Amino acid sequence: MNKLSAMLLFATAVFSAQTKIIAHRGFWKTENSAQNSISSLQNAQELKVYGSEFDVRMTKDGKLIINHDEKFNSLEISESDWSEVKKQKLQNGEKIPTLKQYLKHGGKDSSVKLIIELKPAKTLDLEIEMVEKALKEVKRLELFGQCEFISFSLNICKEIKKRNGEAVVQYLNGDLSPQELVKLDIDGFGYHYKVLQKNPTWIQEAQNLGLITNSWTVNDINIFLELKNSGIGHITTDIPHLLKNN
Ligand code: MG
Repeated sequence: MNKLSAMLLFATAVFSAQTKIIAHRGFWKTENSAQNSISSLQNAQELKVYGSEFDVRMTKDGKLIINHDEKFNSLEISESDWSEVKKQKLQNGEKIPTLKQYLKHGGKDSSVKLIIELKPAKTLDLEIEMVEKALKEVKRLELFGQCEFISFSLNICKEIKKRNGEAVVQYLNGDLSPQELVKLDIDGFGYHYKVLQKNPTWIQEAQNLGLITNSWTVNDINIFLELKNSGIGHITTDIPHLLKNN
Protein backbone atom coordinates (compact mmCIF):
# COMPACT_ATOMS: atom_id res chain seq x y z
CA MET A 1 0.00 0.00 0.00
CA ASN A 2 1.48 3.34 -0.94
CA LYS A 3 1.35 6.39 1.29
CA LEU A 4 -1.58 7.98 -0.55
CA SER A 5 -3.72 4.80 -0.32
CA ALA A 6 -2.95 4.52 3.38
CA MET A 7 -3.97 8.13 3.92
CA LEU A 8 -7.20 7.65 1.95
CA LEU A 9 -8.05 4.51 3.90
CA PHE A 10 -7.43 6.32 7.17
CA ALA A 11 -9.52 9.31 6.04
CA THR A 12 -12.37 7.00 4.95
CA ALA A 13 -12.31 5.17 8.28
CA VAL A 14 -12.41 8.43 10.24
CA PHE A 15 -15.11 9.89 7.98
CA SER A 16 -17.23 6.73 7.98
CA ALA A 17 -17.07 6.46 11.73
CA GLN A 18 -19.07 9.66 11.90
CA THR A 19 -22.31 8.17 10.54
CA LYS A 20 -24.68 8.38 13.48
CA ILE A 21 -27.50 5.92 14.03
CA ILE A 22 -31.03 7.02 14.95
CA ALA A 23 -33.59 4.43 16.06
CA HIS A 24 -36.77 5.02 14.02
CA ARG A 25 -39.75 5.20 16.42
CA GLY A 26 -37.36 3.92 19.09
CA PHE A 27 -35.71 0.51 19.03
CA TRP A 28 -38.93 -1.49 18.93
CA LYS A 29 -37.84 -4.68 17.10
CA THR A 30 -37.34 -6.54 20.36
CA GLU A 31 -39.50 -8.83 22.42
CA ASN A 32 -42.34 -7.02 24.14
CA SER A 33 -41.85 -3.59 22.66
CA ALA A 34 -43.87 -1.46 20.24
CA GLN A 35 -43.20 1.50 17.95
CA ASN A 36 -43.21 4.86 19.73
CA SER A 37 -43.46 3.26 23.17
CA ILE A 38 -41.48 4.19 26.27
CA SER A 39 -39.90 0.71 26.12
CA SER A 40 -38.66 1.37 22.57
CA LEU A 41 -36.99 4.55 23.85
CA GLN A 42 -35.53 2.62 26.77
CA ASN A 43 -34.17 0.01 24.34
CA ALA A 44 -32.54 2.75 22.24
CA GLN A 45 -30.95 4.14 25.39
CA GLU A 46 -29.61 0.70 26.29
CA LEU A 47 -28.30 0.23 22.75
CA LYS A 48 -26.46 3.55 23.11
CA VAL A 49 -27.34 4.90 19.69
CA TYR A 50 -26.94 8.56 18.74
CA GLY A 51 -30.67 9.28 18.86
CA SER A 52 -34.18 7.92 19.22
CA GLU A 53 -36.89 9.28 16.94
CA PHE A 54 -40.60 9.55 17.77
CA ASP A 55 -43.78 11.04 16.28
CA VAL A 56 -45.88 13.72 17.93
CA ARG A 57 -49.57 14.40 17.27
CA MET A 58 -52.16 16.56 19.00
CA THR A 59 -55.56 15.47 20.26
CA LYS A 60 -58.68 17.56 19.70
CA ASP A 61 -58.35 19.05 23.18
CA GLY A 62 -54.72 20.01 22.60
CA LYS A 63 -52.73 17.22 24.27
CA LEU A 64 -49.44 16.29 22.61
CA ILE A 65 -49.06 12.53 22.40
CA ILE A 66 -46.72 10.03 20.77
CA ASN A 67 -48.16 8.14 17.80
CA HIS A 68 -47.28 7.74 14.13
CA ASP A 69 -50.60 7.39 12.35
CA GLU A 70 -53.40 9.91 12.33
CA LYS A 71 -55.73 7.14 13.46
CA PHE A 72 -55.26 4.86 16.43
CA ASN A 73 -57.48 1.82 15.80
CA SER A 74 -60.65 3.59 14.66
CA LEU A 75 -60.04 6.82 16.57
CA GLU A 76 -58.90 9.88 14.64
CA ILE A 77 -56.50 11.50 17.08
CA SER A 78 -57.06 15.11 15.99
CA GLU A 79 -60.82 14.61 16.31
CA SER A 80 -60.72 12.84 19.69
CA ASP A 81 -60.13 14.09 23.21
CA TRP A 82 -57.24 12.71 25.25
CA SER A 83 -59.71 11.09 27.67
CA GLU A 84 -60.80 8.79 24.80
CA VAL A 85 -57.38 8.28 23.20
CA LYS A 86 -55.68 7.31 26.44
CA LYS A 87 -57.96 4.29 26.83
CA GLN A 88 -56.21 2.73 23.80
CA LYS A 89 -53.24 0.43 24.27
CA LEU A 90 -50.14 -0.12 22.15
CA GLN A 91 -49.52 -3.57 20.67
CA ASN A 92 -47.44 -4.66 23.65
CA GLY A 93 -50.03 -3.45 26.16
CA GLU A 94 -48.24 -0.20 27.06
CA LYS A 95 -50.22 3.02 27.32
CA ILE A 96 -49.91 5.65 24.59
CA PRO A 97 -47.27 8.03 25.95
CA THR A 98 -47.77 11.77 26.20
CA LEU A 99 -44.95 14.01 24.96
CA LYS A 100 -44.30 15.02 28.56
CA GLN A 101 -43.87 11.39 29.68
CA TYR A 102 -41.68 10.60 26.69
CA LEU A 103 -39.39 13.58 27.20
CA LYS A 104 -39.10 12.84 30.91
CA HIS A 105 -37.93 9.31 30.15
CA GLY A 106 -35.59 10.61 27.47
CA GLY A 107 -34.07 13.06 29.93
CA LYS A 108 -32.87 10.18 32.10
CA ASP A 109 -30.08 9.49 29.59
CA SER A 110 -28.60 12.66 28.17
CA SER A 111 -26.32 10.69 25.81
CA VAL A 112 -29.23 9.73 23.50
CA LYS A 113 -30.67 12.59 21.43
CA LEU A 114 -34.43 12.94 21.31
CA ILE A 115 -35.46 13.34 17.69
CA ILE A 116 -38.92 14.90 17.84
CA GLU A 117 -41.01 14.58 14.69
CA LEU A 118 -43.95 16.97 14.72
CA LYS A 119 -46.56 15.54 12.37
CA PRO A 120 -48.35 17.93 9.97
CA ALA A 121 -51.76 19.08 11.26
CA LYS A 122 -54.92 20.06 9.41
CA THR A 123 -54.44 23.82 9.64
CA LEU A 124 -51.56 26.25 10.03
CA ASP A 125 -53.00 27.41 13.36
CA LEU A 126 -53.01 23.86 14.70
CA GLU A 127 -49.40 23.44 13.59
CA ILE A 128 -48.44 26.65 15.39
CA GLU A 129 -50.20 25.42 18.54
CA MET A 130 -48.26 22.13 18.34
CA VAL A 131 -44.96 23.96 17.92
CA GLU A 132 -45.64 26.31 20.83
CA LYS A 133 -46.65 23.47 23.14
CA ALA A 134 -43.74 21.21 22.16
CA LEU A 135 -41.16 23.99 22.61
CA LYS A 136 -42.68 24.93 25.95
CA GLU A 137 -42.46 21.34 27.22
CA VAL A 138 -38.86 20.88 26.06
CA LYS A 139 -37.90 24.18 27.68
CA ARG A 140 -39.72 23.36 30.92
CA LEU A 141 -37.80 20.09 31.22
CA GLU A 142 -34.55 21.85 30.24
CA LEU A 143 -33.90 19.41 27.42
CA PHE A 144 -33.10 21.79 24.54
CA GLY A 145 -29.52 20.59 24.20
CA GLN A 146 -30.71 16.99 23.87
CA CYS A 147 -33.50 17.55 21.32
CA GLU A 148 -33.64 17.90 17.55
CA PHE A 149 -36.85 18.68 15.67
CA ILE A 150 -37.92 17.18 12.35
CA SER A 151 -41.04 17.60 10.20
CA PHE A 152 -42.54 17.03 6.76
CA SER A 153 -44.32 20.35 7.24
CA LEU A 154 -42.20 23.30 6.11
CA ASN A 155 -44.53 25.53 8.10
CA ILE A 156 -43.69 23.63 11.29
CA CYS A 157 -39.95 23.83 10.57
CA LYS A 158 -40.17 27.59 9.99
CA GLU A 159 -42.31 28.19 13.08
CA ILE A 160 -39.83 26.34 15.32
CA LYS A 161 -36.92 28.42 14.01
CA LYS A 162 -38.97 31.62 14.32
CA ARG A 163 -39.66 30.92 18.00
CA ASN A 164 -36.26 29.56 18.90
CA GLY A 165 -33.36 30.19 16.56
CA GLU A 166 -31.19 27.79 18.56
CA ALA A 167 -33.48 24.79 18.04
CA VAL A 168 -31.99 22.23 15.65
CA VAL A 169 -34.50 21.66 12.82
CA GLN A 170 -34.40 19.25 9.88
CA TYR A 171 -36.88 19.10 7.00
CA LEU A 172 -38.14 15.71 5.81
CA ASN A 173 -40.16 16.18 2.64
CA GLY A 174 -37.36 15.82 0.10
CA ASP A 175 -38.39 18.68 -2.21
CA LEU A 176 -35.88 21.37 -1.20
CA SER A 177 -32.23 21.50 -2.24
CA PRO A 178 -29.48 22.17 0.31
CA GLN A 179 -29.19 25.73 -0.99
CA GLU A 180 -32.92 26.31 -0.51
CA LEU A 181 -32.75 24.99 3.07
CA VAL A 182 -29.93 27.40 3.90
CA LYS A 183 -32.01 30.32 2.59
CA LEU A 184 -34.83 29.25 4.91
CA ASP A 185 -32.47 29.00 7.92
CA ILE A 186 -33.25 25.29 8.35
CA ASP A 187 -30.41 23.25 9.83
CA GLY A 188 -30.50 20.21 7.58
CA PHE A 189 -32.46 17.48 5.90
CA GLY A 190 -33.74 14.03 6.72
CA TYR A 191 -34.71 12.77 3.27
CA HIS A 192 -35.86 9.38 2.01
CA TYR A 193 -32.88 7.52 0.59
CA LYS A 194 -34.48 7.46 -2.89
CA VAL A 195 -34.43 11.27 -2.94
CA LEU A 196 -30.69 11.17 -2.23
CA GLN A 197 -30.12 8.49 -4.89
CA LYS A 198 -31.87 10.80 -7.40
CA ASN A 199 -29.83 13.78 -6.24
CA PRO A 200 -26.38 12.30 -5.67
CA THR A 201 -24.68 15.67 -5.09
CA TRP A 202 -26.94 16.78 -2.24
CA ILE A 203 -25.12 15.08 0.65
CA GLN A 204 -21.80 16.70 -0.21
CA GLU A 205 -23.40 20.04 -1.07
CA ALA A 206 -25.27 20.05 2.23
CA GLN A 207 -22.13 19.30 4.19
CA ASN A 208 -20.22 22.02 2.39
CA LEU A 209 -22.98 24.38 3.53
CA GLY A 210 -22.75 23.13 7.12
CA LEU A 211 -26.13 21.35 7.05
CA ILE A 212 -27.05 18.18 8.94
CA THR A 213 -27.61 15.21 6.61
CA ASN A 214 -29.92 12.34 7.50
CA SER A 215 -31.83 9.66 5.59
CA TRP A 216 -34.79 7.38 6.38
CA THR A 217 -35.83 4.64 6.70
CA VAL A 218 -32.70 2.69 5.93
CA ASN A 219 -33.31 -0.98 6.70
CA ASP A 220 -31.01 -2.45 4.04
CA ILE A 221 -27.31 -2.86 4.73
CA ASN A 222 -26.31 -2.12 1.12
CA ILE A 223 -28.23 1.16 1.05
CA PHE A 224 -26.74 1.99 4.43
CA LEU A 225 -23.20 1.40 3.14
CA GLU A 226 -23.92 3.37 -0.04
CA LEU A 227 -25.06 6.38 2.00
CA LYS A 228 -22.25 5.97 4.49
CA ASN A 229 -19.71 5.96 1.69
CA SER A 230 -21.30 9.14 0.38
CA GLY A 231 -20.42 10.66 3.75
CA ILE A 232 -23.91 10.98 5.21
CA GLY A 233 -23.99 12.23 8.79
CA HIS A 234 -26.99 10.32 10.15
CA ILE A 235 -29.14 7.32 9.30
CA THR A 236 -32.62 6.62 10.65
CA THR A 237 -33.42 2.92 10.82
CA ASP A 238 -35.66 0.20 12.24
CA ILE A 239 -32.57 -2.03 12.69
CA PRO A 240 -30.19 0.13 14.74
CA HIS A 241 -28.71 -2.96 16.41
CA LEU A 242 -27.59 -4.34 13.02
CA LEU A 243 -26.24 -1.09 11.56
CA LYS A 244 -24.60 0.27 14.68
CA ASN A 245 -21.31 -1.58 14.27
CA ASN A 246 -21.01 -1.43 10.48
MG1 MG B 1 -41.34 9.63 12.30
